[in-house]
Formats: sequence, C-alpha cells, structure tokens
Amino acid sequence: MAAPKPQLPPSIWLVFLALFMVTALGLFSGGNSGGSSVIPYSQFQSYLDQGKVKDVTVSGDTIRGTLTDAMPNGNTAFSTVQVPAELAGSLSKHGVEYSAVTTGGPLATLLSWIVPPLLFVGVWIFASRTMGGGAGGGLGGGLFSIGRSRAKLVTAETDVKVTFDDVAGVDEAKAELHEIVDFLKRPEEFGRLGAHIPRGILLVGPPGTGKTLLARAVAGEAGVAFYSTNGAEFVEMFVGVGASRVRDLFEQARGTAPCIIFIDELDALGRARGASPVTGQDEKEQTLNQLLAEMDGFDRSVAIVVLAATNRPEILDPALLRAGRFDRQVLVDRPDKSGRIQILRIHLAKLKLGADVKLEDIAALTPGFTGADLANLANEAAVLATRRGAESIAMEDFTGAVERIVAGLEKKSRILIPKERRIVAYHEMGHALVALAIPGTDPIQKVSIIPRGIGALGYTLQRPTDDRFLMGKRELEDKMAVLMGGRAAETLLGEDVSTGAADDLAKATDIARGMVLRFGMDSGLGPVAWDTEPGQFLDQQGAFWRPRRFSDETAHEIDTAVRRRMEDALARAIGILRAHRDALDRGAADLLARETLGAEELPVLCPVPVDATMSPEVGQPS
Ligand code: ADP
Ligand code: MG
Ligand code: ZN
Repeated sequence: MAAPKPQLPPSIWLVFLALFMVTALGLFSGGNSGGSSVIPYSQFQSYLDQGKVKDVTVSGDTIRGTLTDAMPNGNTAFSTVQVPAELAGSLSKHGVEYSAVTTGGPLATLLSWIVPPLLFVGVWIFASRTMGGGAGGGLGGGLFSIGRSRAKLVTAETDVKVTFDDVAGVDEAKAELHEIVDFLKRPEEFGRLGAHIPRGILLVGPPGTGKTLLARAVAGEAGVAFYSTNGAEFVEMFVGVGASRVRDLFEQARGTAPCIIFIDELDALGRARGASPVTGQDEKEQTLNQLLAEMDGFDRSVAIVVLAATNRPEILDPALLRAGRFDRQVLVDRPDKSGRIQILRIHLAKLKLGADVKLEDIAALTPGFTGADLANLANEAAVLATRRGAESIAMEDFTGAVERIVAGLEKKSRILIPKERRIVAYHEMGHALVALAIPGTDPIQKVSIIPRGIGALGYTLQRPTDDRFLMGKRELEDKMAVLMGGRAAETLLGEDVSTGAADDLAKATDIARGMVLRFGMDSGLGPVAWDTEPGQFLDQQGAFWRPRRFSDETAHEIDTAVRRRMEDALARAIGILRAHRDALDRGAADLLARETLGAEELPVLCPVPVDATMSPEVGQPS
C-alpha cells in the first residue's frame, strides 16, 4: 500500500515564505540605498568617453562604479551590465542606446536566494523526524503530525457479513471464540460477577486455515465494528511513527466500543526485542511497547477485544503473551477429513455439481489441504469443467484439480527419449507394485509417466484414506519399502540405476532417521530420543545450531543403523519385485503404451498380493 507522503501544514510554508521575502527585499533595497542608479551600457560608454567615470568594480558582467559629477537624479554611484565590445562598437556607430542584463536574469538571482534556505528547511524536517522521539515530543509531534495521518486509514468496518457458518472444520477455535462474541454482545452481563474477557486472543496456525476469516466472523456474529490492520503497517522507517499509529488506532477504537481490533501477521511487529540486529529495531521496539501499553492501559469495562493472527508464535516477544495481553492462544489447524467435508460443503454450495460428485471422496483425496487450498480446488474444478464445456462439474474435474494442485501442471510438451521413458515406467511401476504387494499400505490412485511440474518425470499418486496421527513401526517400514520400489525396479532392469530416485531416497532417509533418532524404534540404539523434533511451525528452530546430544560412538551407530534400515528396505522391495517380475514387465509395458494407469487397472497386474511373511524383518540383521 502506498503511504501518502506526510505533508507539512500550509501555515509552516507561509511562515518560511514570508521570512524569505522580508530578508530578500531587505537585502535588495539595502543594495540600492546608497543612491546607486542602473544605467544603460551605452550611457556608461558615453560617461567614459567624457572622462566622468571616477572608479569601477567589475564582477562578471556587472560593472559598478562612481562618477565624478552627479547624474541628473543626484546619484554618483551607478551600475550597468556589460555589452560585448564588438557589438557595442557597431551599436554606438549607429547611435543606438544599448544595455544588457546579467545572463541569469532576475529569476536566477531570486532562486539563488531561495534555494539554500529551502535545503536547510529540508534538512531540518528530516532531522526532526528522525530524532523526534516516540511520544511525539517536541518539534516532531508539535509541528508535524506524520503518524496521525496514516492511522486514520484504518477505518472501522461496521457491517461485517461473515458469520461462523462461513467457517468450518475448526470447531474448537469456534467454540473458544463464541465466548468472545457473547461478551461483545452483552458486556454488562459478563461484568456482573466481576469476570472479564481476555483482552487479546492470538490465532495461531499455518497460512490459509481461516484465521482472518474467523476474526471477521467474530465481528459479524457480535455485530460490532471491526478494525483490520496488518502488523507490517506499523513498521515504519521513522522512529515513533508506528507507536503513534498504535496510539491513534486504540483511541479511535475506544470511541466506537464495543469493537474488535484485528492485527494480522502480528509477528511483523511483535518479534522478540533485540532478536535481530537489523536497522529499524528501535522503531519496532517503540511500536511494540506502545502496543503493550495500550493493551495494559485500557479500562477492563471497555469492550475492546484485540484479535491477532500469526503463523510463527515462537518468535513473538514473550511480553506479548503475558497475562492481560495475548494470554489466550487459539490453535487454528489444518482440517481433518470431516472438517474438509464441511469446508467443501461451504465452497461447493454455489457450484453446479454433477451427480457423481461426493464430498467424501474429494475429502479423501485432499489430506493436508487447508481451507484456502480447498477454496482454490473448488474454483479450479469449476474452471476445468467450464473449459470442457460441461453442464456441471464432475468428479473427474475435482481429481484433475487435485492433481494439478498437488503435482503441478501437466507438461505434455516435455519429451523423454525412449530409453528414459522405459526407466521411468519401471521406476513408477516398482512403487506401485510394492505398494500393492504389501497389505495395509495406502492404496494407489494413479501411476503415470507424464512429466509434471519441474522435477518429476513420472509419479505414483498414493493417497491415505484417513488422516493419520500415529504411525506404527511396521507402517513406517512399509512406507520405506514403497519409496524404495522405484530404485528396486531400476536395479532389476539390469541397466545403470538413475538419478530419478533422489527424492524417494531423501524421503525414506527421513523416515529412517526419525525411527532411529526420535521414535526409539531401533533395537540397536534403544528407546532413546537422540534428537528432538525440529520447530513446530515453519521449522524456525531448524535454522539454528543445536548441540548434539550423543557421543561420537553413538553418532557412528546412528549412521550405521540408518544405513541398514535403508538397505533392508531396498532389499525388501527388490524381493517383492523379483517375485513379481512378470507383473513388473507387463505393467511397465502397459504404462509405456498408455502413459497413465488408474486404480482399477492395477490389481489386474498383480493378482496375488504378496503376503507379509516374505518380507525380511527390517532392523534385525539376518
Ligand atoms: P489465514 O488468515 O489463516 O491465512 P484466511 O482466513 O485468509 O486464512 O483464508 C483464506 C480463504 O480460504 C478464506 O477467505 C476462505 O475462503 C478459505 N478458508 C480458509 N479456511 C477456511 C475454513 N476453515 N472454512 C471455510 N473457508 C476457509
Ligand atoms: Mg490471513
Ligand atoms: Zn520414485
């Protein structure tokens, strides 16, 4: 958002202008007061010829001097501007009266008087802004009201139409916020027993989960004014501006209570003080202090609730989370399957859906999607159906949209050479067959060798049917085997193994490391948490160095254990594929011919699921 340039009040300019006029006029008239006349150059020449010139001073084009006799007006001092000698000669030959003006003219003279003081004023303004101080002290606050103009940009939204019905899948957060709505509706009733509502509530969760939506819904439900700002708006280059904006915002809000102040991305201004040594730190500190002061200061009986949102609560200044400030945190997390169904219901309500569309199925395809992702999905599906020229949106549009969002846009134009295509086909078929062969793994939705996005040359879409919060050791080992299926198939092909498995290997290694380091699942290393989970949101902690919590010997053991798990998983995948070599060959051939195989076509390839007994006990070296 472009900030309007802070303006000086017009009166200030008038004062300065007047000052300069007086000074300038004074100087000009001072120059004239000695009784000096401006004469044409021709006149000067004739005085010179008559020998009447007593002395002259030449500065640039201008000649000043005195005459021996007074001129008709009584002056002896004169000034004139030189005319080039040649021209003067020919002019005087013809008896023409001639004179000149200085090259700059009167305007330049005037400017030369005005520009330097203007520069001075500029410097003064800059200095007073930079050093003015937070509380608007002295000159900064008295003469120039820079902070004020901008805070007024936050206008209250008095008629918010959003209600809790527009937000789904975050029932716990809604329940907590219901209380706030009640309070805002009937503040007197709440105060009856001396209870007071929390001043500040912090909505915490990943982007797109509906934090902004929830805050608006609270205002809509309570029917109160809604002030929406962003933490970044308070962060200014000039010290004190952000603080005065905070002050003005609360002042304004007090006038319209009951109301809600919503500060999105609170982390932009509420970063722990002294956390980063970048410029503007003073400013942020002052703004934050002002916010703290405002939250402490306002009367408990005034019905103002401050809602704030962040996806990085761990970097907030601890002072912000203290009692009486944002002491209540509401987690707004990614929705689970039933939550996704409810959110889809909201976003699909206005769309024309085909008979085969089941919210249940779409929700099953989209674990991990946020509310915003689902809203995007609904729109993508509608776009696909429209492009198809269809009457209504069919299930295929939704699966298409999911694929598009998940795996990036199809790039049909990307051409693989036949040898690469064959390797990719075996690789993907390897994943699919291993998954089919191990009972209880997530079902395969689709196998494809159509290149997608930037990295993937092909893909195997394996989607969990339920959201999982716990995973067994066995399941993790199964997952690793499926991930290794690609490399296993390439190995069986007998040619060189390819770089295509890099991503699979990275994922499998993560699982193996987790099992060994965090979940105590390796018998060799015992039930010890050798490492703890990295930071919760956006991996904040991960950026910092953490002390290692094990000895060198253990480090060696860990490496060995992780490697053994990887090798076992690969061996298991190879074992499965070797037992189904013909299915692998047929499947790869099919894939090469048709490019994509759906869930229905896969079991045909592998009629007998391999039973679990044939897989070696992973982790126990045999
Ligand atoms: P956040 O502020 O958490 O980043 P938003 O509230 O801005 O997320 O959500 C963006 C959009 O995504 C909303 O306008 C809404 O259309 C959709 N959305 C997100 N979460 C939900 C939800 N829980 N229920 C319904 N719609 C949602
Ligand atoms: Mg938001
Ligand atoms: Zn792979």
